[in-house]
Amino acid sequence: MKRAPVLWASLLVLLTAGCGGGGGEGPAAPLHRVAPLPSAREVAWFRQMAAFADAVSNLSEQAAAPGPAGLKALAALRSCGPIFRSSVGAAPSRRQRAAAQAVLGACADFARDHLRAGDRALNESSSTIFLRSDGRHLPERGGLTAESRVEPRLSQVVAALSGVPGTVVRCWSLPDWLALIDERGAYTGGAVDLRADGFVSEGRRVNLAPRMCERLVRFVYRGERPARGRTKLQLANTVLTLAHETVHVSQGANEAVATCYGLQRMRRASVLLGAPRRYANSLAELAWTGLYPYGLAKAHSPQCHNGGKLDLHPRSRVWP
Ligand SMILES: [Zn+2]
Repeated sequence: MKRAPVLWASLLVLLTAGCGGGGGEGPAAPLHRVAPLPSAREVAWFRQMAAFADAVSNLSEQAAAPGPAGLKALAALRSCGPIFRSSVGAAPSRRQRAAAQAVLGACADFARDHLRAGDRALNESSSTIFLRSDGRHLPERGGLTAESRVEPRLSQVVAALSGVPGTVVRCWSLPDWLALIDERGAYTGGAVDLRADGFVSEGRRVNLAPRMCERLVRFVYRGERPARGRTKLQLANTVLTLAHETVHVSQGANEAVATCYGLQRMRRASVLLGAPRRYANSLAELAWTGLYPYGLAKAHSPQCHNGGKLDLHPRSRVWP
């Protein structure tokens, strides 16, 4: 299945809309100091680097195609390192020199025609940029807690839904979420803000806002099944958000596709989260009737309906 190179793709997602509206990762970071926000010079350099990395991501995607277009992209990728040095230039700070090294490492992979390794290195370079999120290791912790963690039950569910092994859910505490949104907001000129429900980073990390994790945790660990009203609508939106992010992991950055496929993943998501089938069905139907028509379910597509181009099971009458 085609996968968009996700760090830069998801960064662009964040720039336009935000998605708003396993196992542990080693030892917990020492009681973390919050990394300082980027300076204006760092932001300026980052933007050039992000544009470059985005172009490289696109080339890497094109290089996988057979024929002359693929060969042309491959040839361009081999010059990735020299072009980076001449067009992006030297990083203004130590932490960004680490980011530049990561990108040049990806370029070295591309120069050897190791496309997958290059894509991976490019994705992982975000840990040297987004020091308040991807740059942090989180402990794995299940159950009723509000601290920043890798959530094991939710991680199982997103790995199953995305079909991409190693997909994890990172739940953030409120102070950490505020700090990481500040950082992303600085890098994106304020395009990322607290309306974001979640986003994908490093290809396989589903980052969720505290309010999203809180509802999911009550759903999974306490078996809370609101019967109606605003609470159930919020839950439907939350399960949709989770499913939507798993589409970004497996299929890339298109928001309307992520929402439409996410809607169609909701029944399975809810069952995997522990809901009885009937309740799972009712959540998917509520998202379709109570959120989607009112622009409350993220991005729309006119092709998102029973029998439409985005219907994953065109021969089935079940929808979504
Ligand atoms: Zn999204």
